[in-house]
Amino acid sequence: MSCQQHHNETVFAQIGNQKQESLKAISTPIYLSTSYRHNEIGHGHGYDYTRTGNPTRDVLEEAMAKLESGDKAFATTSGMSAIQLVFSLFASGDHIITCRDVYGGSYRYFEMLEQKQGFQFTYWSGSDERELAEQIKPETKAIFIETPTNPLMTNIDMTAVSRVAKAHNLLFIVDNTVYTPYLQKPIADGADIVIHSATKYLAGHNDVLAGVVVSKGEKLSKELDYIHNSIGSTLSPFDCWLLMRGMKTLPLRMRQHEDNASQVKTYLESQPLVKNVLYPGKGGMLSFLLKDETRVVPFLQALSLFTFAESLGGVESLITYPATQTHAEIPEDVRKSYGLTNELLRLSVGIEHADDLIEDLKQGFAAVE
Ligand SMILES: *Cc1c(COP(=O)(O)O)cnc(C)c1O
Repeated sequence: MSCQQHHNETVFAQIGNQKQESLKAISTPIYLSTSYRHNEIGHGHGYDYTRTGNPTRDVLEEAMAKLESGDKAFATTSGMSAIQLVFSLFASGDHIITCRDVYGGSYRYFEMLEQKQGFQFTYWSGSDERELAEQIKPETKAIFIETPTNPLMTNIDMTAVSRVAKAHNLLFIVDNTVYTPYLQKPIADGADIVIHSATKYLAGHNDVLAGVVVSKGEKLSKELDYIHNSIGSTLSPFDCWLLMRGMKTLPLRMRQHEDNASQVKTYLESQPLVKNVLYPGKGGMLSFLLKDETRVVPFLQALSLFTFAESLGGVESLITYPATQTHAEIPEDVRKSYGLTNELLRLSVGIEHADDLIEDLKQGFAAVE
């Protein structure tokens, strides 16, 4: 591709269509070979062993670095392994500030780092810049946020966080799983590192587990590259290809997710059994609170199109009960203290026809009335 700045849609659709590929394949070949021949000592062509570098993975990583306005990207075996790769930058005694409303698996990992590796974490509300600055201590190394937060769907002001991080020389890390680079580019707003569970919107079809880390800056990128190769959390070539195939249609999918989500939001706001709808203003995710917790189980049972399942970002609509599913690792008193209550349901609105989705919700509410 030329150096000309293309639109998001173009960059996504053109992933893997590389003019320099030897047979001019439009779809990137899957290089399964784990090892590469060297003609003589010191005369390699850049590839020797697949953990260190793989031509298929390189295409994906270059595309992700470009889409997130970063310098380097690292494809990993899951979103959690992407988070682990980034946290390998830190050591025992280091303090990290994260947001209160955070993915349950990340919370579990942070707890493990505290208990087994002597890390310290504090949790920030996500809304008050001064409160964030007050949590900083001499051992603080980084601020890690998700925006929008999940499942409460609040947007965190990344420019404000970046200001605090820069003033105190801290790394600013953003989990961009929910919005994706189609809707938000954290590095442009001051982040140093972006993390993805690519399992979600990027792949988009509930059929590949993957993660991505994108970094800004040469020193940081080199360090992550060294750790990625050392710990071996590299994504398999076949999964890299599946992920790229999914990513090509992300802009189309996201537009439909967003259009459907906004129609579902309008419907839910008119529904008397619903107390409150939480929609961050963009994308395909929303949460809502029922007025009465006892209606949760029968409502879930009455739905037929929304599938009761954990995960998000796929073409099929899913409904999740965070209290017992995605956020079950968070102690009940802790999650209730910040609003993750037992009346909360989360929707990952798919790309079906909005009328069918609303019809399904309608018959669900009718069944519990
Ligand atoms: C799912 C998820 C993760 C973890 O990703 P896996 O691919 O399941 O390992 C991390 N962050 C967010 C926001 C997620 O939704």
